[in-house]
Amino acid sequence: MNFDKLVEIALLEGAKKAAVISGSQIVTSNSFRKVCADNVCGNYGRCWMCPPDTGDIDELINIVKSFPRGLLYQTIYELEDSFDIEGMGESAGLHAAVSRKIEKAAKPFLPKGYLHLINGGCHYCETCAKTEDKPCVSPENALPSLESYGIDVYNTTKSTDLKYINGQNTVTFFSMILLPEDGNV
Ligand code: SF4
Repeated sequence: MNFDKLVEIALLEGAKKAAVISGSQIVTSNSFRKVCADNVCGNYGRCWMCPPDTGDIDELINIVKSFPRGLLYQTIYELEDSFDIEGMGESAGLHAAVSRKIEKAAKPFLPKGYLHLINGGCHYCETCAKTEDKPCVSPENALPSLESYGIDVYNTTKSTDLKYINGQNTVTFFSMILLPEDGNV
């Protein structure tokens, strides 16, 4: 697997920074399920790619731990001020679009069995089909949230060059493509 190529693609497709990190750098905590259940973002139970529909958090953390490394990348967007909730929502959608562009461009270089997780849920449809209890309309574009898999992004970034906070009136989003042990790419 060509890690430099994956980083290059992430940067070309819109990430501000990207790095391949080892599985031991990925910090997890099952306390994130309670954070999601508190439903500050409003997605709990309203998106197929968010809890509780993503499954048991301890099982999902075990899946994360089975990957030896991951491509961590971030996008950074300007906000009008720190209360710019609308700007944050728009930025989350932009980040999700960048994530899908990165996956599309990186696919030829990714091994089978990779797992792509993004900040805060799917954001593919304006309103997830889950809200009407209908099946996902586009499983090939559905991306689960990092939080639902118990990934502690803040503490994971501490051992990397990717800063969690990037200045006043900005919002930073992260995604990670978990990479299985497979050197045949
Ligand atoms: S693709 Fe649409 S329906 Fe499927 S999980 Fe994402 S937002 Fe929901």
